[in-house]
Amino acid sequence: MTNVDQKLKKIKDEVVDCKKCLLYKTRTYPVIGEGSHQAKIIFCGEAPGAKEDKTGRPFCGAAGKILDELLNSVGIRREEVYICNILKCRPPANRDPQKEEIEACVPYLERQIEIIKPEVVCPLGRYSMKFLMEKFGLEDKVEPISKIHGKTFEVKTISQNLKIISLYHPAVAIYNPNMKETLKEDFQVLKKFN
Ligand code: URA
Ligand code: SF4
Repeated sequence: MTNVDQKLKKIKDEVVDCKKCLLYKTRTYPVIGEGSHQAKIIFCGEAPGAKEDKTGRPFCGAAGKILDELLNSVGIRREEVYICNILKCRPPANRDPQKEEIEACVPYLERQIEIIKPEVVCPLGRYSMKFLMEKFGLEDKVEPISKIHGKTFEVKTISQNLKIISLYHPAVAIYNPNMKETLKEDFQVLKKFN
């Protein structure tokens, strides 16, 4: 195990035992994240859905199928990227995450980014976009996702230069072929990071 593997394993162990917010009571499995520990791209959704909750795997349901298709369309394999969410446990009945839940959970995501040190973080959906842009000091640049999807923003963290590229949530394309085309176009920009 490399140092990176060990640090990610530690996060996993902590999340499995985590009781920092009440969602541990209602979830089936926490969804920690999966993919390459050397990933150049981290995708970050909002919170696990029903299928993710039952399997412990991120984006394994209908939205995940679309994500796979989008990755395929630019020749990137799922195993080459890292996929996770802001919240590790599913909010009951898919309600919106609450502020306290996010505050409690987000240190795990921050550590995941810090440890993997990707070149790009791609928030999936407007919720994750807003949260991550604010987190990385881009609050002045936040606009509706219809305006800034696919745009690259550069930020400096303590330990690295990072790009933030927000994308529509893949779920928007489940019943909307136009959105899938837009997503496919936006995914083109990711080719150069792989
Ligand atoms: N939607 C998300 O935001 N995350 C998942 O893991 C699945 C669906
Ligand atoms: Fe802990 Fe996050 Fe799950 Fe809340 S959602 S119990 S903070 S892992």
